[in-house]
Amino acid sequence: NGFTEFGLQPFLISALKEINFEQPTPVQEKLIPVIEAGRSVIGQSQTGSGKTHTFLLPILNHVDPEKQQVQVVITTPSRELAYQIHDAARQLVKFSDQEIEIGNYVGGTDKKRQIEKLNHRQPQVVIGTPGRVWDLIKSQALDVHLAAQFVVDEADMTLDMGFLNEVDKIAASLPKSLQMMVFSATIPKSLNVFLKKYMVNPVVEEI
Ligand code: AMP
Repeated sequence: NGFTEFGLQPFLISALKEINFEQPTPVQEKLIPVIEAGRSVIGQSQTGSGKTHTFLLPILNHVDPEKQQVQVVITTPSRELAYQIHDAARQLVKFSDQEIEIGNYVGGTDKKRQIEKLNHRQPQVVIGTPGRVWDLIKSQALDVHLAAQFVVDEADMTLDMGFLNEVDKIAASLPKSLQMMVFSATIPKSLNVFLKKYMVNPVVEEI
């Protein structure tokens, strides 16, 4: 199996076997080791390149199930994409001995119920659309002050849909020593201001 070189935990290798991923795609080959090493990355890649597993694998490899606190935040501009990432993440943690809780927070769902659940228990991984995720942080339902990894998926679409302000506020709520992973088909100028603000010395990879 071509994924064994990345130092992934056995539960992730089992999950990859189950979905018949035998070889990493080029973006996975290049960026999984970089993300594993803790670097911030800008991945200029299209959907279909395998970018979802590029960030999910090294992230889930380091989630600590013993700590019931948010360790990672992932935003994506559409509800459908959030559900897709959530499904992929759930599949990847299926064989973990200890439960890894992955929350999905998108607009148009019952916020009150989400807040009640969050008051009881924080997930280790947050996936959602920028508006709802920021709303839950602002309401102090989600406590993200220890989440040292932030993925901004489809950054150009996020900007087009007017969500960059929320993404900026989310980033500002996270620790200063942040590993940020930005994926975008294009890097428009207005995105650059945001990237410069939060990313120190990122690895930029065009796929
Ligand atoms: P993405 O670019 O993340 O939306 O992925 C595009 C499609 O490729 C999804 O259906 C993934 O499940 C699939 N995929 C991602 N990585 C691999 C891989 N290494 N081997 C086979 N299929 C993959």
